[in-house]
Amino acid sequence: MTNEPTKHNFKKDRYAKSRGGNSRFLNIFCSACNTHVALYQKDGPGALLRMYIDRIFAPPALVTLQDKATDKKDLANLHCSKCGALIATPMVYELENRLALRMIHGSFSKKVSDGTYPPLNL
Ligand SMILES: [Zn+2]
Repeated sequence: MTNEPTKHNFKKDRYAKSRGGNSRFLNIFCSACNTHVALYQKDGPGALLRMYIDRIFAPPALVTLQDKATDKKDLANLHCSKCGALIATPMVYELENRLALRMIHGSFSKKVSDGTYPPLNL
């Protein structure tokens, strides 16, 4: 990765508002090999059960899904790029008709981020 680190800003929209407006960035890592999986904006409290596609800020291959994916069948299982471990599977959050990836419990770890990607000090 030769790109200069970019610091992202929160998306503030109705989805964030409906969750109380307190958002934070999370770096998601593979729990098997510690490889960075995604930079994600988590809105509101609670455990990370799913990653909404429209809240993924990195890597670019996942971000492009925001334009390309209109249906669950456009999504694929999310695997760790290094060890291949299964991290998440496609789903639709019906209440908001929003594409997401359902996180596999125990397959990932997370760290609070300031929104910088690529993550510093990795
Ligand atoms: Zn891995």
